[in-house]
Amino acid sequence: MKRAILIHYHEINLKGNNRRWFEACLERHVVRILAGLETGSVRRFAGRLLVELVEGSPVEEITRRLAMVFGIANFAVAREVPAEIEAIEAELAALVSSTSFRSFKMDCRRGTKEFPLDSQQLNRRLGAFVQGRTGAAVRMEGPEAVFGIEIVKGRAFLFLSRIAGAGGLPSGSGGKVLSLLSGGIDSPVAAWRMMRRGCRVHHVHFHSYPHTTVESQEKVRRLLGILSRFQLESTLWMVPFAEVQREIVAYAPPALRVILYRRFMVRIAEAVARREKAAALVTGDSLGQVASQTLDNIRTISAVATMPMLRPLIGNDKEEIIRIARAIGTYETSIQPDQDCCSLFIPRHPETAADPEKAERAESGLDVARLVENALAGATRETLPADFFAPLPEGGRRND
Ligand code: ATP
Ligand code: MG
Repeated sequence: MKRAILIHYHEINLKGNNRRWFEACLERHVVRILAGLETGSVRRFAGRLLVELVEGSPVEEITRRLAMVFGIANFAVAREVPAEIEAIEAELAALVSSTSFRSFKMDCRRGTKEFPLDSQQLNRRLGAFVQGRTGAAVRMEGPEAVFGIEIVKGRAFLFLSRIAGAGGLPSGSGGKVLSLLSGGIDSPVAAWRMMRRGCRVHHVHFHSYPHTTVESQEKVRRLLGILSRFQLESTLWMVPFAEVQREIVAYAPPALRVILYRRFMVRIAEAVARREKAAALVTGDSLGQVASQTLDNIRTISAVATMPMLRPLIGNDKEEIIRIARAIGTYETSIQPDQDCCSLFIPRHPETAADPEKAERAESGLDVARLVENALAGATRETLPADFFAPLPEGGRRND
């Protein structure tokens, strides 16, 4: 008996001509995320992806990593035998005796059609076989055990339940974007959402060192180590923002400070995005969450953008965002205390309904182009690898 992980990728099937490209992205990502772990070959196999396991393969770690690969609908750790009914029954007997249950259902599928029994006939025959050996009841709704069997090209894969995949589209299949990453709860979730749609996400963080601490920058790096598990490595631009803030504080009305900070972030981020050949900016804004995120202010901030500004959390409540942050593993780091540059010099009554003209008037005393240039001149670019050693999010949910 051999063992393998059988991976299914539903959404990719919908993509017509692009399918091969998506499959290649997925396969490449699976190979890379499993690098350094002992496995057999990883390859495409009749509309599936197969990770062959060897003696000593760390199955638990492999499944935890696979649960973070976008584009996977579900996967199963399977035993593999030749697609012959006697071999299947013998292996099924072993699988059945490895678990205890009072009710069960069979979930047999025929991936290719050369096997003589169709899935219904297989379900009936193998269901009767399991019942005969155990006396357990067949139950379609809420069975205690589900025995999955897939027959593909002369090979039969048997497994206990499928593990839910991360869904979405494979990393790298959706183009490049630049995320504005603060040390907060929202922006890492927004970046993750874009990764889940297949984007490669680059990041920019604005810091006000020496007004803010180096620890705050370290926190952003830690966050990115966690986020990078979903795309394996990330580019981080660290941009000094103190000069921009000092000038805004000195020359613009206090009520508009945060809006002007944001407009500068957008201008600088666009310049970074062009260097990285990213097509859009991403922020963690959620409508109405704070004063700078009213519809009027979002409009005033977006007015300086020439690229699309994507706000994947715009319709989410904080609780929903926190739930995702916990699930992807960023929450515990996000809530550690830090000093965000935007919390500096905040007036008691920030403007909640600025319009672009008002913001332009407020900026008329500033040398916008020079401030953007100076910030870029002081920026650094680094590449952060995925940190698989920090605690990982829970492995995939059971999905049977
Ligand atoms: P977050 O939890 O992402 O910090 P927030 O609810 O605190 O969001 P704001 O602080 O108003 O909201 O920030 C809105 C968005 O602006 C953030 O989600 C992020 O995309 C961007 N942003 C804010 N501060 C920074 C920063 N220092 N560097 C990069 N981007 C930032
Ligand atoms: Mg914030």
